[in-house]
Amino acid sequence: MSSDAPHIPFSAPSIGDEEIAEVEKAMREGWVTTGPRAIAFEKAFADYVGVPYARAVNSCTAALHIMLVASGVGPGDEVVIPSLTFAATGNVVEHVGATPVFADVDERTLCVTAAAIEAKLTPRTKAVILVHYAGLACPIDEVRALCEKRCILVMEDAAHAVGTRYRGKLVGAHTEGVSFSFYANKNMTTGEGGMLTTTREDLARRFESLRLHGMSKDAWKRYTAAGTWRYDIVESGFKYNLGDIAAAIGLVQLRKLEGFITRRNELAAELRKNLADLPGVEFQALAPEGDRHAYHLFVVRLSTARGTPDRETMIGALRARNVGFSVHFIPLHTMSHYKERWPDAGRELPVTERIADELLSLPLYPGMTSSDVDRVTTAVRSAFGRG
Ligand SMILES: *Cc1c(COP(=O)(O)O)cnc(C)c1O
Repeated sequence: MSSDAPHIPFSAPSIGDEEIAEVEKAMREGWVTTGPRAIAFEKAFADYVGVPYARAVNSCTAALHIMLVASGVGPGDEVVIPSLTFAATGNVVEHVGATPVFADVDERTLCVTAAAIEAKLTPRTKAVILVHYAGLACPIDEVRALCEKRCILVMEDAAHAVGTRYRGKLVGAHTEGVSFSFYANKNMTTGEGGMLTTTREDLARRFESLRLHGMSKDAWKRYTAAGTWRYDIVESGFKYNLGDIAAAIGLVQLRKLEGFITRRNELAAELRKNLADLPGVEFQALAPEGDRHAYHLFVVRLSTARGTPDRETMIGALRARNVGFSVHFIPLHTMSHYKERWPDAGRELPVTERIADELLSLPLYPGMTSSDVDRVTTAVRSAFGRG
């Protein structure tokens, strides 16, 4: 069966006239690389999260990389990460010469737990990177309690978690190094972009150096009247700065973010309600009372043991009705590079192994209409022969 109905994408950015106007303003004013808008965006982001320091970069991957370098993670060190994550989380560990070690996730939250991390600690463990899967916070406090007494650093890959609230504070305000993504499909976008937040001034300074060639202080000002032509290179840094055109989009998106997240939560609640009676369709755990899931993704687990059609069948049903989907994630330990380079890293991941072929992400984005939700619902139900 094929459908003439328009395609419902898996995700779509919500960009309006305000973003376009702000970008036009930046371009007409003539400062297009890192400058006043990037700085204003950092300030606004820090205020939003409730953290003293935010530093903008050109991707979350860059943020994660800098975070590891600034923390002194390197050869000989092990970094514990989930296998159920995007390649960026693992690749950066290898970029700094450290060894990735995969921890299992909880079956209900799809996030790592303190116990799962503890099972993977060795005397070489230097850091843990938490991934707040789909926008649900990991148990940050429990992981910190575990790691702090062992002098292990706790960092966060918050690519899904801009707007996630955990125990009274937004994600980004809890640990010393948190990386956010503003990629096209994330909760807010700058096209491509990222942000690092930290509670430590010394780390914020180091991020500034590392993101721009290791240049000493405010090097971007060297082309302004206020700047000086003189600069020094204090380390071999990277070229990870965020430009003002991207920051212009980010400034407007950030103002809309609370509305986006409210809408994502409403849509997720509707989808849960519409699919609740289907046998074997399981949802990710809700955020605990008082916390907030940011619903970057709406993930279902198709538990074939409990009676759902398998993922391929479901994908066929979605395709037939022109409904988009995605998979988060193909576990990293099953990817050919990781199997070859780090064969030991993927041992003992029973939950990840069991659920990997059963996870499916359905469309979720603020611009979805009720009729889009109905079509997604109908498509999923059709795989069960139900209307
Ligand atoms: C999207 C994503 C990233 C990478 O973000 P970029 O901004 O594209 O570098 C990292 N980690 C996770 C979990 C992601 O989903």
